[in-house]
Amino acid sequence: MTAVDMAARGDEKDSVTTNHGCTTTTKTKECSENVFVGIGDQMAGVVRFGDKVKEHTFPPTDSCPSHQPTLAVASKTVIINEKGAGRRKDKYKGSEEISTGYPTVWIGGG
Ligand SMILES: [Zn+2]
Repeated sequence: MTAVDMAARGDEKDSVTTNHGCTTTTKTKECSENVFVGIGDQMAGVVRFGDKVKEHTFPPTDSCPSHQPTLAVASKTVIINEKGAGRRKDKYKGSEEISTGYPTVWIGGG
């Protein structure tokens, strides 16, 4: 959980550390379709509570099946499309943690 950190953008604009085997890093995916952060080719919708990370492979089996967990931690006070806004260091339901964000937009709220 984080108090204030950089806004996370979807559409694979920000990175995610999975903290598990098979795939160690992936990207953000689902996000708002009408609330954006960034300029030019760095612009993308803000990630929100419940949005899915980019599909990636994970243990425990040797075959590394894919999964696509949803964002489980987000701001409780900055609400986008009636969902909490996602930030760097917020976590998805697996063990995935957003590792980058947009450097000039910071979001607080638990
Ligand atoms: Zn995963």
